[in-house]
Amino acid sequence: MEVKFFTPTREYTERKDEFNKAIQSVLDSGNFIMGREVADFEEAIKKYTGAKYAVSVASGTDALVIASEILGFKTGKEVITSPFTFLSSTSCIARSGAKPVFVDIDKDTFNIDADKIEEKINPKTAGILPIHLFCQMSDMNKITDLASKNNLRVLEDAAEAFGMKWKGKNGVVYRHSGTIGDMGIFSFFPTKTLGGYGDGGMIVTNDAKLAEMAKMLKVHGASKKYHYDYLGYNSRLDTIQAAVLLVKLKHIDEAIEKREKVSDWYKERLKDLNYIKIPKIKGEQRPVYYVFNILAQNRDELAAYLKQNHVGTSIYYPIPLHLQKCFNYLGYKKGDFPVAEKVAGEVLALPIYPEITEDEVDFVCTTIKNFYKK
Ligand SMILES: *Cc1c(COP(=O)(O)O)cnc(C)c1O
Repeated sequence: MEVKFFTPTREYTERKDEFNKAIQSVLDSGNFIMGREVADFEEAIKKYTGAKYAVSVASGTDALVIASEILGFKTGKEVITSPFTFLSSTSCIARSGAKPVFVDIDKDTFNIDADKIEEKINPKTAGILPIHLFCQMSDMNKITDLASKNNLRVLEDAAEAFGMKWKGKNGVVYRHSGTIGDMGIFSFFPTKTLGGYGDGGMIVTNDAKLAEMAKMLKVHGASKKYHYDYLGYNSRLDTIQAAVLLVKLKHIDEAIEKREKVSDWYKERLKDLNYIKIPKIKGEQRPVYYVFNILAQNRDELAAYLKQNHVGTSIYYPIPLHLQKCFNYLGYKKGDFPVAEKVAGEVLALPIYPEITEDEVDFVCTTIKNFYKK
């Protein structure tokens, strides 16, 4: 048996007519830039997430760069974030001229350890950038408390967090990831829970002024055509991607439920093994299994064994950002964030997508057990 780490073609094959029709309709209209589907998709995202404003852009990375600029993460300022994430979460801070200030992660959730944020806040601090990673959100109660106490901006990197929800402080309602801080972003990179057939991203906010700025910056800083109020970007979501994403969004709840079921299959089979640990969900929230991670003894040997046996895996993230060459100038060294460094050495992502079968999960788990029996 072969189990791929990720495959977009099963879903496409299942709903081929629906996707083809959506794409064909864009081809027939000829509106490739900012076509009707782009506006429709922004409306659909507002409705699904509860955000007041949704501004589509060309990628999750662009969304982070544009939001960082709008929130004033600039030269002379510092932004507190986690080193255990994808590059974009930190490069957006550095690109806008601010200094990324790292805080170690929680050993059970792999998200920023919110109890360690306060000691890093100083008069230069402009914001906090939490990343909702893999399957769960960061502690948004503590983060928003610290932000309002210290007058900081919060940018949520919800690139991986579509569908995740956090229970509000008053304990009544769940709020969608990305809509709790000042601004939030989603990525529609193909592997993501809501993934397109190419690049795409979205900025969400409940603040009319911030949304207005985002709308201008994504089209060269233009307040209206050929009137440039700011130096902006060219960062638009393709109409064809919007058409694909509208189809995907229609079925997203079912896809999220299937991911949940797959995670249960893994948990049933991998619990009580002393050589494997499964991350814990913390805080009152609705997780979404974008990634199913384990912490494994002899991780690299296990990954090689799985590969030999035709099981795809991935390592998110093998090198924490404070140890990346491009961030040498920040002056961090090995040992500065022991939890992130330890997790980076043990974490392994197993195949998870709505279309994976129980037999395939069985095969992955049996292969893992066989490795440790050797
Ligand atoms: C995928 C991802 C991004 C970047 O999104 P792109 O659409 O690929 O630019 C940013 N942050 C995190 C945590 C991600 O996983």
